[in-house]
Amino acid sequence: MLSIDLSGKRAFVAGVADDWGFGFAIAKKLAEAGATVCVGTWPPAYGIFTKMLERGKLAESLQMPGGGTLAFERIFALDAEYDTLADAPIELRENRRYKEHDDFTIQGVADRMVAEFGARPLDVVVHSIANGSEVKNPLLETSRKGYLSALSASAYSFVSLVQRFGPLLRPGASFVSLTYMASERVVPGYGGGMSSAKAALESDTRTLAYEAGRRYGARVNTISAGPWASRAASAIGFIEKMIEYARKNSPLVEAIDAADVGATAAFLCSPLAAGITGTTVYVDKGYHSMGVGVDEAGGGPISNA
Ligand code: NAD
Repeated sequence: MLSIDLSGKRAFVAGVADDWGFGFAIAKKLAEAGATVCVGTWPPAYGIFTKMLERGKLAESLQMPGGGTLAFERIFALDAEYDTLADAPIELRENRRYKEHDDFTIQGVADRMVAEFGARPLDVVVHSIANGSEVKNPLLETSRKGYLSALSASAYSFVSLVQRFGPLLRPGASFVSLTYMASERVVPGYGGGMSSAKAALESDTRTLAYEAGRRYGARVNTISAGPWASRAASAIGFIEKMIEYARKNSPLVEAIDAADVGATAAFLCSPLAAGITGTTVYVDKGYHSMGVGVDEAGGGPISNA
């Protein structure tokens, strides 16, 4: 029977700090497919996440449908805004949330993986990170600093991850990131340069697919997910409205589930997707394909459904 088999593979999922974001759902599906999973957690969220795990607060979410429990092989502190420790300001390194971790940068985590697991320890690298300090500001009111911070945390971090984790990959490896349709269509309220960051991420997916394909034989894809009430999305302030709007206006009328995104990521990272690279894959119940809203009474302006 055809199935997704990632047994013997090791994955690193960057951007897991609770049990309801896309990163967690992806980690779980990768584990269900047989992979060993390490995660990268933002230092400000590291303490609370590891305490919740230790105290068994996530026990239910860690249960896998086929039996067994998701267990992370390692939880690395990772701040993806920094490539090397020399880039991190001294005040940040001395911050109480950071100083307990040796090297929380992208290169630091890559070096620790090699030290702990050997020269080429990885098959799957997932980027499930976004942050924009001025996300609530319209682009017209976004500062240069806010715009560049959105690009740094949400787009360049992926370029750096591919640069620094590329040399760690075994043959047939795969990168996946998470994007959002605000890269290509206007989503009022998704501000602060976040739409620009997602546009960069999607463009970089194509270029990195070429470069990492030629250099490492690795594949690079991004998943454009529909709205989901994660911690990051809830902070923007209108996620429930977006979910309801997408549900009413999509070809498939149910809201997406994080597990839909997890399953697609597991497929993209599996040998079944060996021919897929440089692509944006929509996991949004088809919302991106609609040209006209249909949520008005009577099925909208044009409806034959
Ligand atoms: P989330 O809050 O679960 O994930 C975001 C993660 O990024 C968090 O774990 C946070 O700690 C981490 N993070 C922030 N800054 C970081 C940094 N500098 N270094 C390391 N980690 C950092 O939310 P999510 O919605 O699951 O987001 C995951 C990805 O999915 C993001 O790229 C997001 O843009 C994308 N996405 C989300 C939606 C949605 O509606 N939720 C839709 C489409 C795409």
